[in-house]
Amino acid sequence: MAYQIETRKAGRLLTCDACGAEVGVSCFDHPRAGVSTMTVRPGEWTPEGIGADNMFTTRASAEQAITQLCALGDEWARAEYRVTEMPAGCSCGEWSGEACAWSGPASATVEIEFMPAHLRSTHEAARNVGVYPHNGAVRCYVSRDCALEMLESDGEWCHVVGPVAQAEVLALLAGRMRERLDAAQGAGEGA
Ligand SMILES: [Zn+2]
Ligand SMILES: [Zn+2]
Repeated sequence: MAYQIETRKAGRLLTCDACGAEVGVSCFDHPRAGVSTMTVRPGEWTPEGIGADNMFTTRASAEQAITQLCALGDEWARAEYRVTEMPAGCSCGEWSGEACAWSGPASATVEIEFMPAHLRSTHEAARNVGVYPHNGAVRCYVSRDCALEMLESDGEWCHVVGPVAQAEVLALLAGRMRERLDAAQGAGEGA
């Protein structure tokens, strides 16, 4: 999982001391009057401006980097920071040949191992699928929906990596099948 730092700096508002109007540098109507600086609502959260190395493998290392940013003082110290998970994509395209458009937090993906089509006949002939990675199987992270689709349509050659994710995805799959059965039953009774 990857993390990044986002920041938002408070905006500044300049107002004319004579009329109170919001001004750019000085008031058009009162060029001799002073201007006051006010700190106003914070801006948008953005990963921009943090620097090129804004990618961390752990939340803790990102938080440590925030401490270092604050130590730079001035604007850096005044800005707000937060650590966010970098959005991940779905790698189902490695299996289907066409990637879907899903994007979301990496924690919402599951790791799937599948046997590429061109290796299947060999493994079938040998009656032994072997063990990853020596058997040529591919591992990729996909969205839960795509994981379900892979298991449903290609379950013989796909499986979820890791017992926790496996149990979770199988439970989802079971729920989906139950829904279908109920729907089919309902339709049967209606006829
Ligand atoms: Zn003015
Ligand atoms: Zn997908």
